[in-house]
Order: sequence, then structure tokens, then C-alpha cells
Amino acid sequence: MNIALIAHDKKKDDLIRFVLAYKPIIEKHALFATGTTGKRIGEETGLSVHRFRSGPLGGDQEIGSYIANNNMDLVLFFRDPLTAQPHEPDVSALIRLCDVYSVPLATNMGTAEVLVKGLERGDIEWRSVVKDKEE
Ligand code: PGA
Repeated sequence: MNIALIAHDKKKDDLIRFVLAYKPIIEKHALFATGTTGKRIGEETGLSVHRFRSGPLGGDQEIGSYIANNNMDLVLFFRDPLTAQPHEPDVSALIRLCDVYSVPLATNMGTAEVLVKGLERGDIEWRSVVKDKEE
């Protein structure tokens, strides 16, 4: 599975801790991340991560394009709901595309935990029941 990892600045420490806690599950998958998030995950967890641009510079939209092309299976997006983001339209667009394509999306650690445990159990099979958007 292809997993996207994104964290706003004040949530990056939480995401690193989360990735370390669930490393045995997460490391079995291909990881993608926005620029700064991916740099930190690579340095602090030792995992290999494909890095897009930084979120405010288009990274969220790059991940969105993967979603629109059916190339992303899960998105873990640790949002900071208490700080205004200069790229809020990009954040909203990414969340919207997850809904358009039924891609599982966690916007906080609690949901991320449930999704990653579901991933471990092999529960994520939605692609087999969702109709292709091109049809
Ligand atoms: P960053 O981007 O990983 O480059 O900090 C995340 C974001 O703010 O969308």
C-alpha cells in the first residue's frame, strides 16, 4: 500500500512518535510525505520516504494528484486545528479528494491508530467495492 504522511509543524513530533510506535506495521508499506515531514521521518525513524515539496509549496497538491490517479491508499494527516495555515485551500482540497476517491484519511492520531491497526489486519479493501470514477 502507498501511505501519505503529512503533519503541520506543531504536530510533527506527534507524527514521529506515532510512526516509531507503529514502525513494524508502517515499514511494510511505501511511504510518501510532504517535504519537511518526510525529512524528519527519514532522519528520526530511519524509514525510507519519498518526499514531495513542502506543504505550503505544493506538497499537499502533489499528494492530491496521486490520490486522483488512484496511487494513494491511505492518508495520515496530523492537522493543527489551532493555527492558521497559509495553504489552507490546499489542505481542504486534499481532504476533499480523499472523500471523492474514498481514500481512508486520518486527521488526528486517534483515527490514525485505528487505520493503521486496520491496515495490519488487512481490513482496507475498499478499492474492490468502490466504482472507478472514470466509469
Ligand atoms: P511540510 O508540509 O511537511 O513540508 O511541513 C506539511 C504541511 O504543512 O502541509
